[in-house]
Amino acid sequence: MRLEFLSTRGGGPAVALSEAIEQGLAADGGLFMPTSLPRVEHGSPCDPARLPSVARVALAGFFEQDRLAAHLPAIADAALDLPAPTTAVKDAGGKLFVLELFHGPTAAFKDFGARFLAECLQRLQPAGAPPTTILVATSGDTGGAVAAAFHRRSWARVVVLFPRNLVSARQEQQLTCWGDNVIALRVAGSFDDCQRMVKEAFVDPALRRHRFSSANSINVGRLLPQLVYYAASSLQVFRQCGEKPNYIVPSGNLGNVSAAIWARLLGYPVGRLVLAHNANRTVPDYLDSGHWQPRKSVPTLASAMDVGNPSNMERLRHQFPTVADLRAQLSADWVDDAAIRARISTDFRQFGRIWCPHTATAAEVYQRLPAADRAQPWVLAATAHPAKFNDVVEPLIGQQVPVPPSLARLLDLPAQCVDVDPTLSSLAAALA
Ligand SMILES: *Cc1c(COP(=O)(O)O)cnc(C)c1O
Repeated sequence: MRLEFLSTRGGGPAVALSEAIEQGLAADGGLFMPTSLPRVEHGSPCDPARLPSVARVALAGFFEQDRLAAHLPAIADAALDLPAPTTAVKDAGGKLFVLELFHGPTAAFKDFGARFLAECLQRLQPAGAPPTTILVATSGDTGGAVAAAFHRRSWARVVVLFPRNLVSARQEQQLTCWGDNVIALRVAGSFDDCQRMVKEAFVDPALRRHRFSSANSINVGRLLPQLVYYAASSLQVFRQCGEKPNYIVPSGNLGNVSAAIWARLLGYPVGRLVLAHNANRTVPDYLDSGHWQPRKSVPTLASAMDVGNPSNMERLRHQFPTVADLRAQLSADWVDDAAIRARISTDFRQFGRIWCPHTATAAEVYQRLPAADRAQPWVLAATAHPAKFNDVVEPLIGQQVPVPPSLARLLDLPAQCVDVDPTLSSLAAALA
């Protein structure tokens, strides 16, 4: 059976997976959702230590009868052959694990989605068509991952918008070091401004000629590979402990946790899901009060999570319409900068593990769980490598963070970017 995708806002026709991936955002401004989740053949052989192997089984139903169906194995091999080990935290009492999502080219989990999307779009590009413009707003890591994934693919141009002074120095370097088919725009505004500009550009008739595609976490082509690492990790821990592991997910736009929910709905042994937010507490407040109140983002140390109006909330609220429905799927807590700092120092001393500021929110939320809950297996999603945030982390641990070789290479390249105002007209001018 072929899956169909509909806009969360109900406008427009149902589309196939490939169309949902190509369009990114639905024509009415909504997000694409499958009308049902496919069945997974859990009996099919798969090697949980290899993501391409897990992807073939976990994603088969999404691709069935789609234009890309025959390409799924090749897409999975090209995009997902990255390590994503779930490692035990020694000295933490036995059942604490870390899902290490930072072994890709730009050292954050965004690499998985960006690479998978690039492989899908490449195979969907009509022969001889003019280049697609991949428009991406980033609070830090998405832009670098997308630039790395699409760099020097002749059929694509990447335009990255990032907020000036609100990303780490090394993140900025990863956004601006590419050249060729990658343009970096440094916006005099917040991440929310960047995101708004992208959304406005998408629905602006005069800009249609750029053939936009989105690479933000609203694209289903990014959610699918992310569910694969939850599937793989949960199978590994379940086999080891005989219990379903719970996950704590450092969250901003809620793409990563949406993928975790999909993995669980597909039948993978994912237990409870707990969101770790920074001081941008829109989601924890919603779960407490039942009132949805998006707000301006505030800058924090975990800057890739500085989101006041999470874009994937529209998807979650479509799937789980009332606050009670959503509470049945997940819970959430939030962590201020002082607690992030303290957790990075403490866990380095106690466990010898170095967290990036985002991962530290999850480590802090774990420590706040009741002791009885901590008797179960828990996995912290480690969303970025601490070397990307050396300016925050090194003073707290009193030593240098070793830089992975792929990151070291990018840090040596010359940087270039264009400064723009937070308006659609300045974006349009830069697109020229
Ligand atoms: C993007 C990002 C997050 C937030 O993920 P969402 O899918 O937006 O919730 C957390 N940590 C890091 C390091 C990120 O880059």
